Amino acid sequence: MLKDNLAQVEENIEKACKKAGRDRSEVTLIAVSKTKPVSMLQEIYDENIRHFGENKVQELCDKIEQLPEDIHWHMIGHLQRNKVKYIVGKVDLIHSVDTYRLAEEINIQAKKKNVIVPILVEVNIAEEESKFGISKEDAILLVEEISHLENVRIKGLMTIAPYVENPEDNRQYFQKIKQLSVDITNKNIDNVSMEILSMGMTGDYMVAIEEGATMVRVGTGIFGERNYKQE
Ligand SMILES: *Cc1c(COP(=O)(O)O)cnc(C)c1O
Repeated sequence: MLKDNLAQVEENIEKACKKAGRDRSEVTLIAVSKTKPVSMLQEIYDENIRHFGENKVQELCDKIEQLPEDIHWHMIGHLQRNKVKYIVGKVDLIHSVDTYRLAEEINIQAKKKNVIVPILVEVNIAEEESKFGISKEDAILLVEEISHLENVRIKGLMTIAPYVENPEDNRQYFQKIKQLSVDITNKNIDNVSMEILSMGMTGDYMVAIEEGATMVRVGTGIFGERNYKQE
């Protein structure tokens, strides 16, 4: 079952790449496995998926313990400063940095463990009140500030687009964040790269790929609907 879902997602990714004239290797599929049992992650792992995304620190750490070591883990959810210490050195990428204070704490923990932590800056591109992320206007300043932290490396931007019925409605936002990443690249800030654009979820990842996403975060499309009542 999961195998079929995954095959469908893979086909869609290939279709979107083709339409946009991009190579399939430019896009990384992150399987968003939050709330799902380890057995389901293992099933997807057995289909050669190596990138998993989680949004809660405790759940992430539990799953890291139980699954193979060659998995690349992505922290995609809102991160509290007091929990940073539990994930630094364990995850490949933190997608959700939206304040200097959070980046500073990541830097402190990274120094302690003598590692460099790759991060993305989360941008609230549609300026939804309910969402985390820095505004587009303040993003460049935040990137400049964070760039001075020795053990943190900005690798790009992440955004969560609005929930929409028609994915075309989000195309404007994906274009905006792509443009923002170009603007930042043109500033040539030391230690900052814009190689990653993490955007697109189950409802809109094809449009996101057409507009330049290099990482798509797909949960429901692979694992099915989430049941939060069990929590
Ligand atoms: C849950 C989640 C996803 C996946 O959402 P789906 O619509 O199930 O694909 C992607 N990104 C973030 C940040 C999430 O929290």
